[in-house]
Formats: sequence, structure tokens, C-alpha cells
Amino acid sequence: MAKNWVQQAKSLKPKNDLFIDGKFVPAADGERFETLAPRDGSVITTVARGKAADVDKAVKSAAAAFDSGVWSRADVRHRQQVLIRLAELLLENKDELALLESIETGHPIGDSLNVDVPSAARSFRWYGEALDKIYDEIAPTPNSALALVTREPLGVIGAVVPWNYPLIISSWKLAPALAAGNSVVLKPAENTNLASLRLAELAIEAGLPAGVLNVVTGLGAEAGAALGRHPQVDKITFTGSPAVGRMFQEYAGQTNGKQVALELGGKSPHIVFDDVEDIEACAVSVAWGIFYNAGQTCHGGSRLLVHESVHDKLLEATIRVAKSLKLGDTLDESTQVSAIVSEKQLERVLGYLEIAKQENAKVAMGGSRFTPAAGLENGYFVEPTILDNVGNSSRIGQEEIFGPVLAVTTFKTVAEAVQLANDTEYGLAASVWTKDISRAHKVARAVRAGTVWVNTFDVADIIVPFGGFKSSGFGRDRSLHALDSYTALKTTWINLGSQEIS
Ligand code: NAD
Repeated sequence: MAKNWVQQAKSLKPKNDLFIDGKFVPAADGERFETLAPRDGSVITTVARGKAADVDKAVKSAAAAFDSGVWSRADVRHRQQVLIRLAELLLENKDELALLESIETGHPIGDSLNVDVPSAARSFRWYGEALDKIYDEIAPTPNSALALVTREPLGVIGAVVPWNYPLIISSWKLAPALAAGNSVVLKPAENTNLASLRLAELAIEAGLPAGVLNVVTGLGAEAGAALGRHPQVDKITFTGSPAVGRMFQEYAGQTNGKQVALELGGKSPHIVFDDVEDIEACAVSVAWGIFYNAGQTCHGGSRLLVHESVHDKLLEATIRVAKSLKLGDTLDESTQVSAIVSEKQLERVLGYLEIAKQENAKVAMGGSRFTPAAGLENGYFVEPTILDNVGNSSRIGQEEIFGPVLAVTTFKTVAEAVQLANDTEYGLAASVWTKDISRAHKVARAVRAGTVWVNTFDVADIIVPFGGFKSSGFGRDRSLHALDSYTALKTTWINLGSQEIS
């Protein structure tokens, strides 16, 4: 029998203080702020408003844990066991975590249960399992020396994450950073804190020592900036908007020159050629690629660049698929598309729909706010929207909307398709649809994006890197490369003396 998630949400008692040194504590000045449910605009709870003093306390706790060696120098097998146990605990607490995630983000509960929590668990398991399969190096020195090249943890990592996939994106950062032996201070987005706080509590239950993972909830300009500026933070790993990403580069430059890795969203194109083999499969990918999570996905396929000869057929098929998606309440397990995260983001998306009118885009589908069910009138819902006849250089063609809005543009030649695909400040992802394998390869190479899918979209896993080119940022989450990015290479050169064996 389907669970009554609305009822369960009412009985939730989320942890809502800062998590520092293994304990929940209020902010030093006692201030709090409200977190709202996107499905109906109601207040879920208040959350501690951490500021510079709280960030300082969290960083000091993380640094002390690091220096003590309790985790940073712990046996690899021990770190492995803890991370794998955390993965198990995430799955054992799947219902609660999924509910916390959905109630704050507006993700359909079915997605949180089947995608977000299992993906987060997989990240911890995967990096945990990887740990005893990675070897360091011995350099080809003269015989009189032995030089070891080892990977060393960096120290304290500041992870600043957005609201669109709190559990998944946090785990992409926490799992490799912790696996490598670092300590972490996580700053979730102001409107999505609750699942991360629970994750931190479960990490302690899994055996992570106190202080190794701290969570400071708070506003970006307060807690986020304080973390970015803190001199004892060795690296910031950030996902969010380009404007804030660049602030972290400034914070680093103005303080201790800490490392910064940025993942900053995109304007990812589907490039559909006239020889696309399966137009129905393409339409399914195009529709899901933009409407999953109501378009609030950094690599969401927000541009459809389609050869003029297949435009009508693909548009008709995409509209058909989009119309079949079940829009609805976040807490209904059959819902496929639900709310926008916040009123601010709702206004932003609706603002772009106004801009679309001024730019003479043709509304092929959707275009308005809606209420999926009685009682949700104050929720933040926007219809899946398809805008046809979009000029690639228009604001709709260029700017990241981060909502359920697809921009459709036609092209005539392969060269024009590549030019349009690259004519954006972003470079996070793209897809190429053609049955010509040679064309697929050449176009995939020519598109400046961190991920290019061929005849599919949004299939990925922790096993492959993820990140961008150009304004989409630099650095990569996921894969063994991410593990490397939370370490620095150390050379230990040992003088062996004369070559005589004595
Ligand atoms: P944002 O960049 O403002 O927020 C991301 C994180 O940065 C949050 O944790 C936030 O608290 C923190 N932050 C905000 N201002 C800060 C500051 N001055 N100093 C330090 N930290 C700060 O993103 P947003 O306002 O929530 O969303 C705005 C737009 O960003 C969206 O419409 C979308 O286009 C884009 N976005 C991209 C992603 C992505 O996955 N790349 C995710 C969310 C939003």
C-alpha cells in the first residue's frame, strides 16, 4: 500500500541546529531562519542561522580533528568500513531522508526515494570501496635513493552546495573528500538543510569521529562567505551560480589562496540531426532532460537545437511525452514533475516567461503557473513549457533559467549546429542525436562541454567525472579524479647511501 507521505511529513521532527564537533548546537547568537515547503509555502521549521563565529568554530573543530590524525591518518580499511557503513545507514533511513529532501526541495517523493537517497549512498560506498584499490608511486630515481610519491589529504574542505539536489551533490563532495582523509565543513543552501543535517548525524553513527564532518546552516552572504574567507580552509568545492562561484575565487584571492573548484550550471543543448534514428526515444530524452526536477538541474537539456527537417516531428513527439508526465504534489508517489524550490526561483522562472513573450518566442506548450491539487494554492508550480522559434542569441537562448522551460531553435547544417551549441557562455553538457557514428564523434569532440551524450541523455554514474568548461566552472566531481582533487602529491626522497648491500 502506498505510504501517506503527507501524514509522515507532519510527524517529522527534523534536526535543525548546526552540527559542530559531533553535536547539534544553536548559532552563537541564537538566531534562526525559516525553511519553507515548496509544495504549499508552509513553514517546515526554523534552522540555526550560522555566521562567521559559528563557521570559525566548525573550521577549528575540523582542523583539530585533522591534526589529531583520528581520521586523516586512520587506517585505510577503517575509513573504508565507516564510509560503507554510512552508505548502509543512508539506505536504512531512506524514507526519512527522502521525506526531508522532498519536503524542502519540492522533488517528487518517488525521485527522492529511488534516485536521490540511493545515489548518495552509492557515492559513499563507491569511494569507500575504492580506498584499498589505489596505489601510490615509486619514482625512477638513481639506485642511491628511493622516492615515494604519495597522495596526502589537503586538510579542511569547505563544501558549499545548492538547493537542487542537496543529498546527491553533497555526497559527490563529501564522499571523496572524507575518503581521502580530509575534514569537511558543509554549508548547505539556505532553503535545503534538513537532509544534510541528518546525514551528518548518521555519519557519526557510522563511526566518523566528531569534528571530521561539520554542517553550518546559514545564509550565503554570512556563513558561505565566512567559509570562503576562512584562512584555515584549504579548499572550497562549490556548486551553484556563476556569480557566487566567482565570489569564492575572490574570497580565496583575498585570504589564503585556498584551492577553489566550481560547478556553475549550464545551458545544455540537445543537437538533433536529420538522420536521428529513433525520434520517439529522442523525444523522451528531450522531455525528461528538461522537465525532470522541474528543470532545476545544472546539466538540464534546456536548449533543443534541431535540424529544420525533423523539427515538426520531434516537437510534436516531445509535446506528447511532456503532456503525459504526471504533474502533482511533491508527496504523491505517482508525481513525476512537481514544485520549484522557492518563491524567489518561481519569480525568476515566471520572469523569463515574460521575457520570452517580448522576444517573440512561440509558446508551444505550457507557459503558466499552476496548482496541482486543492490545498497547494500557495505552492510554487510552473507548467512544463516549450518555447519554439527561440533565437540562440536571445536571453531565453542564452541565460540559465533553471526551471521547466525548453528553448527550441532550428539549424540547417552540421557546422551551424556546432556553432550554435558552442554559442553560450556555458559548457557543462550536451547530447548529439545521429545514426552516423563518424558525425557523432566529430560533433562530440567539437562541442565544448564536460559531458557529451550520444543518442541518449542524462545517463551517468559516480564512475565518470562531471563538471564544466567555460563559465560552467572547473574541477570535476565524481570518479577517481575527484578523489585525486582532494589530495596533494607529496614526494618523500630517501637517501639510501652507497649501492653496497651491507
Ligand atoms: P547561489 O549560487 O546563490 O547559491 C549556491 C550556494 O552558494 C548556497 O549554499 C548559497 O547559500 C551560497 N551563497 C550564496 N551567496 C553567497 C555569497 N555571497 N557568498 C558565499 N556563498 C554564497 O544560487 P541560488 O541563488 O540559490 O540560485 C540562483 C541561480 O543559480 C539559479 O537560478 C540557477 O541558475 C543557478 N544554480 C545553479 C546550480 C547548479 O547546480 N550549478 C544550482 C542551483 C542554482
